Amino acid sequence: MVLYGFAVDSCEKCGVTANVDKTMIFKLFHTFLYTIFFQVVLVLVCAPHPARCSQPSTSSPQSLESDISQLDESREMLIIEGESYIIPPPWRGNRFIAPEYDYSDFRLIPVEYTHNGTKIYILSTAHQPLVALLEAAEKDGIFLKVESAYRSEGYQTRIFRRMLAEGRTFDDIVRYVAPPGYSQHILGTAVDFFPSNWRFAGTPAYTWLQENGRRFGFAETYSRFNLMKIPWESWHWNFIGRDDVDQDGSTMTSGDGKK
Ligand SMILES: [Zn+2]
Repeated sequence: MVLYGFAVDSCEKCGVTANVDKTMIFKLFHTFLYTIFFQVVLVLVCAPHPARCSQPSTSSPQSLESDISQLDESREMLIIEGESYIIPPPWRGNRFIAPEYDYSDFRLIPVEYTHNGTKIYILSTAHQPLVALLEAAEKDGIFLKVESAYRSEGYQTRIFRRMLAEGRTFDDIVRYVAPPGYSQHILGTAVDFFPSNWRFAGTPAYTWLQENGRRFGFAETYSRFNLMKIPWESWHWNFIGRDDVDQDGSTMTSGDGKK
């Protein structure tokens, strides 16, 4: 039955009467079709360019953290003479933050224990233990010579600048030399014994250090199978104090460069 443009339908079973405007049904149907149409268009436009259409996300703490770590990593760059170099593995992520030292924080290692009698400085806290270690080795017939100890970040930068000027590539240099800021020597507690190369591992001095180094608080930072996967540096020993030395004499601190 039709009353004033309304279709009045009633259910014969329950007697409920419903009023339905057929014009309204027609409009609703069109609205539905338009909605479907725009959804299809949106999918076609956005699918190849998700970033273009994505909503500003409300980052979870986890996603925020990953953003920050990416930013931190991107800052691990070395700039020399206006050129930028990205710090590669294994150095990447192993930068040292050295305290602000003063000249008075260092002491000269007795020149009779340095290679070629060179003047080499070490942090005062490590000086006495190092001299004690050198004297003990001497009593055992082991003549250890220190080739290097404290090296500033500026010193390390000069090494890179010189090698680059000699025509070597950055990628080649970082295979052998820690980038500025990535050498444990900036802490002032690390020592390189002579000869600071692969030959040292075969010397009686290395065997003596393995057996006695930790008695004096010195540990081999980059042992043969160190977890940082930094190449083995048998000549490089760092003063960490007697209490902090692991059972095997190694430490898990990071980042040193060869000479
Ligand atoms: Zn070293």
